[in-house]
Amino acid sequence: MTAPLTIVGTGMAGIGLLRQLRALDVERPVTLITGDSGDDYAKPLLSTGFAKRLPPERLAARSALEVADQLGAVVRTHTRIDAIDPATRTLHIGEERLSFGELVLATGAAPAVPFAIPDTLAGRVFTINDLDDYRAFHAALDGLGRPARVAIIGAGLVGCEFANDLSAGGHRVSLAAPEDAPLPRLLPEPLGHALGEAFAEAGMELHLGRGLARLEEAGSDIGVVLEDHSAIEADLVLVATGLRPRIELAQTAGLDAGPAGVQVDRCLATSVPGIYALGDVACVDGVNAMYVQPLQASAKALARTLIGTPTPVQYGAWPVLVKTALLPVVALPPLRTPARWRIEGEGRDLAAYAEDEDERLIGFALTGGCVRRKVELARAAPPLLG
Ligand SMILES: Cc1cc2nc3c(=O)[nH]c(=O)nc-3n(C[C@H](O)[C@H](O)[C@H](O)COP(=O)(O)OP(=O)(O)OC[C@H]3O[C@@H](n4cnc5c(N)ncnc54)[C@H](O)[C@@H]3O)c2cc1C
Repeated sequence: MTAPLTIVGTGMAGIGLLRQLRALDVERPVTLITGDSGDDYAKPLLSTGFAKRLPPERLAARSALEVADQLGAVVRTHTRIDAIDPATRTLHIGEERLSFGELVLATGAAPAVPFAIPDTLAGRVFTINDLDDYRAFHAALDGLGRPARVAIIGAGLVGCEFANDLSAGGHRVSLAAPEDAPLPRLLPEPLGHALGEAFAEAGMELHLGRGLARLEEAGSDIGVVLEDHSAIEADLVLVATGLRPRIELAQTAGLDAGPAGVQVDRCLATSVPGIYALGDVACVDGVNAMYVQPLQASAKALARTLIGTPTPVQYGAWPVLVKTALLPVVALPPLRTPARWRIEGEGRDLAAYAEDEDERLIGFALTGGCVRRKVELARAAPPLLG
C-alpha cells in the first residue's frame, strides 16, 4: 500500500492537488492541514467582491467539511505546522508529533509589509490575501455604514485590482506607490500611465512617485504620510506591497529554499526525498510564477508523480489577465530584461512588445481594445517553462 499523503495548505494548490489525485486514486489516505478555515474558494475572486457587494460566504464554494466529504480526506483546520522534522518524518504541531509518509508543501505566500503599523491603528489597516482577510475588511467597511475613504498602498496587481473593485463599489479610493505608474512589474510605463488615467477619470486620487513615510492617527482618521510630506486622510488602509513565499518551514527543516520559494525540480520534488512543493511557495526549476494556471498545471503533474508515474510539469506562455475593468490589461512579462519595448497603438488601446537583441518576442503587454490580441501573441511567445 502507498504511504499516507499529507498536504499542508488548502489554497488552490493544496485542494487542487487533492482533486487531481482523486481523479487517479480514490484509495490513498490523505490528510490536509491548514492554518485557516479550510474553506474552498478561488483567491482571484477576492478582488472582485466589493463592486458586487458580495459577503464572504458567497465567495466560498465549499466548507472544509464538504471538501473532506467530497474528496475523501481528513481535513484539519486552524492547525498551524510549527516545524518539519525530515529525519523522523514528523510534523510538529505545538506538542503534538504527527508522522507523514509523503509530504506536500502548499503553504502559499504571505503579504510583505515593509513598514511599521502603529498598534493604535489595529483594525483599520489591512492586507487581503485570503478569505479570512476579506471577511475582516468586509466587516470594517460594513461597520462604517457609509462609503469609505480607502487608501491603498502599492500599485501592483493586487493594489490595482482592489482599487478598481472598491471604486466600482462606491468607495473613495486613493492609490499611493513609489513608482511613477501603476503595474510597474507587468507594464512598461506608457501603458501603466494609461491605466492611471483611467483610474483618475473614475475619480480615484493617485499619489505616485512617492513612497510611504509613515501611518499615523489623525483624529478619527488615519494619516497616510508620504515621503514628500503630503498626506492622505483615510478611514481604512489596504496594504498591497507584495507577497513573499512562505519558506520558513522548509528552510528550518534544511530544504533548499530562498526568497523565490522552495526550490523544486520539474517533478515538484524538493531537495529531501518524499517532500514536494507547489503553488506560490514553490520555485519550479527557477520560476515562481505565483498565478493560477502554473499551479493548476503543477497539481496535475504532481498527482501523476504521486501515483508512481514521474511527470515533469510544463508551463505555456500564459499571460496574466488583470481584473481592472476600467481599462482591461493583459501581460506576459518577459523572464529577462528585454533589449527594447516596442509600443504601438493610440489613446489607451496600446500593445507593447518586449523583444530580445534579435527582435524575437519574449513578452508583451496589452491595454484596452488591444487585449483581444492576447491569444495570437501568446502563441508567438516562449513558454514560461518549456
Ligand atoms: C487579490 C488577489 C487576486 C489574484 N488574482 C489572480 C488572477 O486573477 N489570476 C491568477 O492567475 N492569479 C491571481 N492571484 C494569485 C493566485 O490567487 C495565487 O497564485 C494562488 O491562489 C496561490 O494559491 P496557493 O494555494 O499556492 O496559496 P494560498 O492560497 O496562499 O494557500 C496557502 C495555504 O497554506 C496554509 N498555510 C500556510 N502556512 C501554514 C502553516 N505553517 N501551517 C498550516 N497551514 C499553513 C494557509 O492557511 C493556506 O491554506 C491573485 C492573488 C490575490 C491575492
